[in-house]
Amino acid sequence: MRIEWDVKLGFKDVMFRPKRSTLKSRALVDLGRTFRFMHTGTEWTGVPIMAANMDTVGTFEMARALAKRTLFTAVHKHYTVDEWRGFFAGAPEGIADYVAVSTGTSDEDLKKLVAIGGENPQLRFICIDVANGYAEHFVDFVKRARERFPDKVILAGNVVTGEMVEELLLSGADVVKVGIGPGSVCTTRVKTGVGYPQLSAIIECADAAHGIGGQVISDGGCTIPGDVAKAFGAGADFVMLGGMLAGHDESGGDLIEKDGGKYKQFYGMSSATAMEKHAGGVADYRASEGKAVEVPYRGAVEGTVNDIMGGVRSTCTYVGASMLKELTKRTTFIRVAEQENRVYDGK
Ligand code: 5GP
Repeated sequence: MRIEWDVKLGFKDVMFRPKRSTLKSRALVDLGRTFRFMHTGTEWTGVPIMAANMDTVGTFEMARALAKRTLFTAVHKHYTVDEWRGFFAGAPEGIADYVAVSTGTSDEDLKKLVAIGGENPQLRFICIDVANGYAEHFVDFVKRARERFPDKVILAGNVVTGEMVEELLLSGADVVKVGIGPGSVCTTRVKTGVGYPQLSAIIECADAAHGIGGQVISDGGCTIPGDVAKAFGAGADFVMLGGMLAGHDESGGDLIEKDGGKYKQFYGMSSATAMEKHAGGVADYRASEGKAVEVPYRGAVEGTVNDIMGGVRSTCTYVGASMLKELTKRTTFIRVAEQENRVYDGK
């Protein structure tokens, strides 16, 4: 047994230190970024905020809404080949720049991915997603996917340490998804005790990825726009959101009316609810590592997107970054023991 003594930090442990700025208005801040991907050599431009590949978040409806603002959707893996065909038949031109098809690592998953990719050559992005990105089997799958799809941008995860980010990038991933345990409906830390505070995970993984020309996605743990800004400040190239995008018209999950209020279902992809829906129940060798909740219904996602983008723009003006790209260079985090003032909570 060994203990690492340097403290790892989460979003709640820091704030941005304000810096002198010549920016006159947050309207002047450009949240668009352009990336060149390390294996395909292709470029992407957009606002690097992503909807998570959960069936209550990363839906086709979400993809249509977010693409209008050049935000990205990792579409969940449970749509059929036919449903994908239907999506591209009715979707606006250019939407392929803002969607990824998600897949697990089973033979069935690969077969389906090949079918969807074969029928929809415009697809540019594949998101290979497993709970534990440290498994050798997963690395092998990334290598096979790179050989099979040389012109597709591969997003792969999840991991939380620099050496594994390097291994995945060198095995064929263009972008590595970072986060184990921070998710709003994740119970991995409860069930297993495994995890890594998200801010430190981003800082360490971004450093590793950028050293060899790759990018990272911060996945999970953002609860407010300030957290999204902190993830970018820490060095994330993309920030993936689940809970912050749940509860909208475009989110999946049933609308529930009770006690005069409206709610939407939101659940982890490893929750008993998801496993019952997609896998016929929780297999007896495993525990569910996600929970199911009902979140207040919030209408169209557009309002939430404006709120998030407005927050990040404002962060940029506080530290003097005229573009999102500059935010991390202008970031000094201060270690804190307090966050917002909650005196009126519940009033
Ligand atoms: P959020 O933005 O809601 O905090 O986190 C979203 C992320 O949580 C997802 O992108 C995914 O990585 C993770 N996640 C989703 N469902 C589950 C689950 O059932 N178990 C665990 N451990 N993580 C989950």
